[in-house]
Amino acid sequence: LSDRLSGVFDRLTKQGALSEDDVKTALREVRVALLEADVSLPVARDFVKAVQDKATGQAVTKSVTPGQQVVKIVHDALIDVLAGDNANPGELKIDNPPAPILMVGLQGSGKTTTTAKLARRLTQTNGKRVLMASLDTNRPAAMEQLAILGQQIGVDTLPIVKGETAQQIAKRAKTQASLGGYDVYMLDTAGRLHIDEELIQQAADVRDITNPRETILVVDGLTGQDAVNVAEAFDRDIGITGVALTRMDGDGRGGAALSMRAVTGKPIKFVGLGEKMDALEEFHPERIAGRILGMGDIVSLVEKAQQTIEAEQAERMMKRFQKGQFNMNDLKMQLEQMMKMGGMEGIMSMMPGMKKMKGQMDEAGMDDSVLRQQIALINSMTKKERANPQILQASRKKRIAAGAGMEVSDLNRLLKMQRQMSDMMKKMGKMKGGMLKQAMKG
Ligand code: GDP
Ligand code: MG
Repeated sequence: LSDRLSGVFDRLTKQGALSEDDVKTALREVRVALLEADVSLPVARDFVKAVQDKATGQAVTKSVTPGQQVVKIVHDALIDVLAGDNANPGELKIDNPPAPILMVGLQGSGKTTTTAKLARRLTQTNGKRVLMASLDTNRPAAMEQLAILGQQIGVDTLPIVKGETAQQIAKRAKTQASLGGYDVYMLDTAGRLHIDEELIQQAADVRDITNPRETILVVDGLTGQDAVNVAEAFDRDIGITGVALTRMDGDGRGGAALSMRAVTGKPIKFVGLGEKMDALEEFHPERIAGRILGMGDIVSLVEKAQQTIEAEQAERMMKRFQKGQFNMNDLKMQLEQMMKMGGMEGIMSMMPGMKKMKGQMDEAGMDDSVLRQQIALINSMTKKERANPQILQASRKKRIAAGAGMEVSDLNRLLKMQRQMSDMMKKMGKMKGGMLKQAMKG
């Protein structure tokens, strides 16, 4: 694959922005890579289409080919889809004890193993008291299996009573969890080789009896196209809150992760990395993204090129500051940096002389919306005006303020800030010992 890829990349010529053809050519290869990673066909198609729309017209980093740039864009988009808005994948809702956790999935997917792994994690990491119950009435051995794992990890299991239905066991687990003062009780349901009505009905009954806080779908990470059907059915009929992907210690590229995110929109919470009880991790989107795409060398190449350019930019900026030059372009960069860092913690606040300015800005209530307005004002200036803000007279000011939908007084405040910063830079530039240089290194 990578031979084929580099062939494509060699053919693509360097240019400023990604053309539709650049993007299409590179995405053809990306699509193959996704399918080879067992991403389901419709999901791969939709994903590629979304990236195509997004990538066309984007700038190409210096010393990188358009094809490489597309791969980097794909990689970032993959991480976005895999991560969703799920900041803490490993977190489970387990307040209001005893909190029920329902484990569902096909037979052999790793439900029992993952139930025990999670119980161990909740016990050892979160200090919770956990009760596990096997509802697998079809296979007595499965109940034994959970009991043995429980002993191994020091977690209680609900005593086995012969002849009970899954529904009866669920009720008993619920009662026992309350009486026994457990924080969490986990229900390891029966699975089958394929989805059928009885399997779904039983899981739905157990759900209605216990009202689980979390319903985790356990899916074998090596399953390919079928993962979508399984996830769809369980989510539609039972309603899942998250996914655990098992067998990610194997050779599989884990395309099921992308399929399931796309189909259910539910977060992937955990990844199983072996048969042992400690072989469970919370989900890291960037790791799985790299694995699905299998183009890590290209991604790091583009990242390196981007870092080099950022470093060059910083260096150039510093030289200008030392000469006491600080125009609207510089100010815009500072403001953008502050937005990126979520407040007044940009380069500015790291400079000794800037503390006072930062204080003034804090006092003026400069939050994100103010930063955005100021950037809008600068955007409304011509190139010449940004480089030489001193040329701004009344008529120009009016035009700029109107263009940004603001008042001239807003613009005057911005100009004052730029002048103050410029003065400060001049003073710092004259100081001995490379104070500015030091400050900029943070
Ligand atoms: P269940 O039928 O869904 O309850 O599946 P089990 O928990 O019994 O697991 C079936 C088999 O898969 C067992 O031999 C487990 O040891 C194995 N297994 C489960 N999770 C993993 C994993 O993350 N990696 C590997 N390599 N094996 C696993
Ligand atoms: Mg089992």
